[in-house]
Amino acid sequence: MTKASLSPVLKQATPVVVDHALGSWIHGTDGRRYLDFTTGIGVTSTGHCHPDVVAAAQEQCAKIIHAQYTTVMHQPLLQLTEKLGEHLPDGIDSVFYANSGSEAVEAAVRLARMATGRQYIVTVQRGFHGRTVAAASLTTAGTKFSAGFGPMMAGVASTPFPDARRLQLSEADAVAYALGEFDYMMSTRIHPKELAAVLIEPVLGDGGYLQVPPAYLAGLRERTEKYGALLVLDEVQAGVGRTGEFWGHQHTEGLVPDVIITAKGIASGFPISAIAAPEEIMAKAWPGSQGGTYGGNAVSAAAGVATLDVVEREGLVENSRVRGRQLLAGLREGLAGIDAISDVRGIGLMLAVEFGDPTANAGGPESLEAVRLAGAVQQACIDEDLLTLTCGPLGSIVRIIPALTVTEEEIVTGTERFVRAVRRTVE
Ligand code: PMP
Repeated sequence: MTKASLSPVLKQATPVVVDHALGSWIHGTDGRRYLDFTTGIGVTSTGHCHPDVVAAAQEQCAKIIHAQYTTVMHQPLLQLTEKLGEHLPDGIDSVFYANSGSEAVEAAVRLARMATGRQYIVTVQRGFHGRTVAAASLTTAGTKFSAGFGPMMAGVASTPFPDARRLQLSEADAVAYALGEFDYMMSTRIHPKELAAVLIEPVLGDGGYLQVPPAYLAGLRERTEKYGALLVLDEVQAGVGRTGEFWGHQHTEGLVPDVIITAKGIASGFPISAIAAPEEIMAKAWPGSQGGTYGGNAVSAAAGVATLDVVEREGLVENSRVRGRQLLAGLREGLAGIDAISDVRGIGLMLAVEFGDPTANAGGPESLEAVRLAGAVQQACIDEDLLTLTCGPLGSIVRIIPALTVTEEEIVTGTERFVRAVRRTVE
């Protein structure tokens, strides 16, 4: 008799096996209680097992679990659409649901191509958009996400990100450089009449927790409008309060995208994702060209409604802003003077500690030492009963993603544990 085991393709960041979890805390089967600053990669926005989310899901389970939205509609999806609509910019009034971030990214690509009749999707270098083949084709956060299973989807190109630190430029000069490269691409490689969409995260996530400068986003908006292409914002990780605004793109004043992609934090851990766009754009996709067996699941949708209720009632967008500032200030103070650390940054509760020289991120010996250090710190955090993750092309950045419900005291505890872990590793 063969016993199955989990595929080694899963690269687990911690040895923790969860028994149960509540709020910011994970209780392992090892009897230890971990402060969770990973939130399932930015998913459990209302904390683990928020009582309102649990109750909504339990209640929905007893009514109907799977209703299949192209066969029969169900109430939770109608309610979620109405609630989500309260947070969407004016004019973005039509929503399509899927299960995961990657699927929603695929749906956005399909929509952009059908709505414009054009083929090219331009992404920004170091963006992460998912792991399905199409989503991986759009991903340039690291070669590991596409190496070995090509050829990738055609009709994709990436343009440089205005990374001021890496380019060793001021932010304004980095933006001018990156917009210049975009314009150059439009005259040398992709004719503007073939540009379907520009796809970008408002804060690059897996690529390294880099905020997109507002002037760059505004520049992309201007260009996509001029060329009749869509500006698609991947808010899968940055959306739903994570950055201290409901949407990550709200840090760019007056910006209205054409398509918003959301997933992760929208349902506190239940799988559901969505794309939202003006009805006139959505209507250009043929009926039946998008769909799926499980899309917009009833239990996930009910959890989504409860999540948005909790986000509003408990003021979690504001909490993200305030606790984020506290955490950033605490980390900067506690980590000051450590040479191996080149940057401590963050917006809302999306924070990063970068090791090594950012100009060496292409893979030189310095960056390999930085990757070793970041990994060692992440492991040292586990010894402190603190869970964190790494990110960046090679993994030289430790990212910290607490629940939006995190308390002042939990931030103090987490900061102390993190600083101790770093000091133990580098000293
Ligand atoms: N887009 C972004 C910005 C993401 O952060 C992720 C997941 N890390 C995805 C898309 C893919 O989402 P999923 O893993 O749910 O397919």
